[in-house]
Formats: sequence, structure tokens, C-alpha cells
Amino acid sequence: MNQHDLARVAAAHGTPFYLYDMDLARAHYRRLASQLPSEVELFYCVKANPNPSVLGAYVGIVPGLDVSSGGEIAIAQRAGFAAPVMSFAGPGKSDQELELSVREGVGLVSVESPGELARLSAVARQYAKRQAITLRINPLVTGKEFPMRMGGGPSQFGIAEEDVDPVIASALADPQIDLAGFHIYSGTNCLEPKAILENIAQTLTIVVGLARKHHVSVRKVNLGGGFGIPYFAGQVAMDADALMSDIGKFIAYRKAEEPLLRDAKFILELGRFLIGPFGVYVARVVDVKETRGKRFAIMDGGMNHCFPATGNFGQLIKKNYPVANLSKPSESAKIPQELVGPLCTPIDSMARAIELPRCDVGDLIAFESCGAYSFSASPLRFLSHDTPLELIYNDRTYGVGRSREKAYA
Ligand SMILES: *Cc1c(COP(=O)(O)O)cnc(C)c1O
Repeated sequence: MNQHDLARVAAAHGTPFYLYDMDLARAHYRRLASQLPSEVELFYCVKANPNPSVLGAYVGIVPGLDVSSGGEIAIAQRAGFAAPVMSFAGPGKSDQELELSVREGVGLVSVESPGELARLSAVARQYAKRQAITLRINPLVTGKEFPMRMGGGPSQFGIAEEDVDPVIASALADPQIDLAGFHIYSGTNCLEPKAILENIAQTLTIVVGLARKHHVSVRKVNLGGGFGIPYFAGQVAMDADALMSDIGKFIAYRKAEEPLLRDAKFILELGRFLIGPFGVYVARVVDVKETRGKRFAIMDGGMNHCFPATGNFGQLIKKNYPVANLSKPSESAKIPQELVGPLCTPIDSMARAIELPRCDVGDLIAFESCGAYSFSASPLRFLSHDTPLELIYNDRTYGVGRSREKAYA
């Protein structure tokens, strides 16, 4: 993101804003996808960044989407994705959302409970349709390398591996339901290639076991996502090319040796890994306070716009995001300071004890790696400030991805 003159963008559009570079994001996507064999499809997970222009920039490149709500289905359709390329997961799908899925022809509904299977079947009957599904399974164990785990232990996600047999039997017996395969999503932000490969290996073992036991002809194996990006000092980015090529080779090998996987297509559904590095959040310092030995730079946006930077979104230990003071030369002397937003709560702290060139009133502060789970995971209405502008860099042009919503005139 260093190629962008963010001071110029700020002068033209005001602060606070997000900028997403879709030229970089698409190039990254293409490179990853090119390492995968044709039986592995790389989906984009909409909830990581549902900005309509982000989705629009992926149309024609990304073959499918992981969606998590009726709203995401609608946003993705308006952006140009057809319902049949979507896989819909999430623990609390309402009757209306199931109806939307069946009516619009969502490609795969990832069913997460026996109750949901029954409700989906009833909706499909009403529409005289047969709905393709995967059953989402919560495996008995999940690698501890996934910092926020969605599998292993009791959880609201999926059907426990040990409880899935009767659900498979009812899916197979149901004329409204087409059991296409299985889905396992274990957790997010894993930075260990070895753990990712082990997780995939484990998923395939579970799937093959179930396919054998229940004579399921498996067409879809959704391997989930959760590939991580570095945020904090000491974290290192994974070698993306090597990871993708190892995954591709492993899947091709398993498919070749295992007759039960012969007709299977595999889905990887990534959010953070695809878009996370290609977004930046920029705010401006509006006040500075030196008090009781500490220097605070108070910005025009904070947790209301970019909640994960506060360390309250799935982080066990609060650490600072990569931050830069754009208004001072990077070689200027660094001093410890705290960067906070304008909200009336002490958790609105965007960087603690951070060593940065002195932040003064008017300085622009950039929070990097904010392309995923940032705007969309923030309490935008808390304290009723304007929302941040979302800008897109696409085909070498800056454009507005979503306007700033003004709280007052
Ligand atoms: C959120 C989510 C993903 C994407 O997770 P990332 O960590 O962003 O890759 C994939 N699958 C499901 C079911 C999800 O809920």
C-alpha cells in the first residue's frame, strides 16, 4: 500500500477513510489461484469485507463466494455474483434467509443443525425444489494454531462429528435435499502452514470416513478458510505461493488415491488472506494531551471505525497493529505515545505505548492491514459520528466505494 500518496487522498476526500487497493488484491488472488489445481476453487468470504465495490472488483475473477447472511446474498447479487456460485454458512439462518436461498438458487447451503435441515427441507418443498447442501461438521479436535477457533469443543457452529450420522441419514432420505458433501471451517488467522495442511488432511479423513459409512457420493468438500496475515511485531507472513502449491499437491494426491473423492471438487473460502493486506485506515490527529507522564494523540476516528485495532476482536493479548505517522518522515526520532479515538470509553485505544514519530495535531495516522474485518466489524453507530469513507483503487483509479454517512449537516 506504500505506493499510495495517502496525504493527497486525505486532502481530496477528508478523513477518516479506508482505502482498498483492488488492483493489488486481484493480482494476489490470481497468483494464489494459479497455484491450485482445477479441482480446487478459491472462494472469497464476503463478511471479511462486504463493500459493494470490493465485490464488484472480484466479479469475473473469483468463481464463488462464502456468504453468511441474507444481506450478504443480496449485496453480492447486486455486485454481480449469481446465487448459484454462493455457499451460505452461519449458525442462525432464519426461515426468511432459507427461503431467499431456495428461491434465488444459492448453490450450497451449509447446514449447521438437524433443526436447520428440517426447516430448509420444508422451504424447498414449498418451492418444489431440491436444495444442494453441505453438512457443516464440528470436528472432535481442531489445531490450536487457529487463534479464534470455530471447531473442537462444544460450539454453535456445525454439527458435532460424533452426532452427524443421523443427520446424514435424514439428508440422504429427504427428496428435497441433495447432500453434495461436507464443510469444515476450523478457525481464523492461522499463520502456520503446517497446521493448515494438517487441518485439510484431517478434514479429508473425516469426509472419506463419512462417505464410506453412508455411501455418500461426495461432490463438494468445503475446506473452510482461516489463513492468517501478520499484524503484530514478531509475526511473519506465510509463503503464499508455497502454501497454495502444497495444498494443491496434497489434494490432488488424496483425490488420486481415494476413490471416494474421485468426483469431488474442493472449496477454499478465504477472507482475511485475500483482502486483509490491501486495506488501510487513515485518521487525523485532532488533539494532543500530555498527562501524568503519558502522551495521547486523539484522532477523528477510532474503535467506531476500526474496532479490531483496539485488540478487542478475538485477540487474547492486546498488541498494536502496524501504524505509521504519515505526516512525519519515518526516520524522525520516535517517542512512546498512545493513539486513541474520539469515543467516551477507555477501550477506544488504537495503539498503546507505541514508538512513533511525534504525533501532532493535524498529522495523518495510517493503520495498515485493515482490509478485512475492519469497517464491517466495527460499531459504526456508537457515539453517532460520521462513518468513514471507503475508497477503492481499481484499474489504477481512485473511486468512492461507499460514501461517508454524515451524522449531521
Ligand atoms: C468467516 C468465515 C470464513 C473466512 O475466514 P477467514 O479467516 O477470513 O479466512 C470462511 N468460512 C466460514 C464459514 C466463515 O464463517
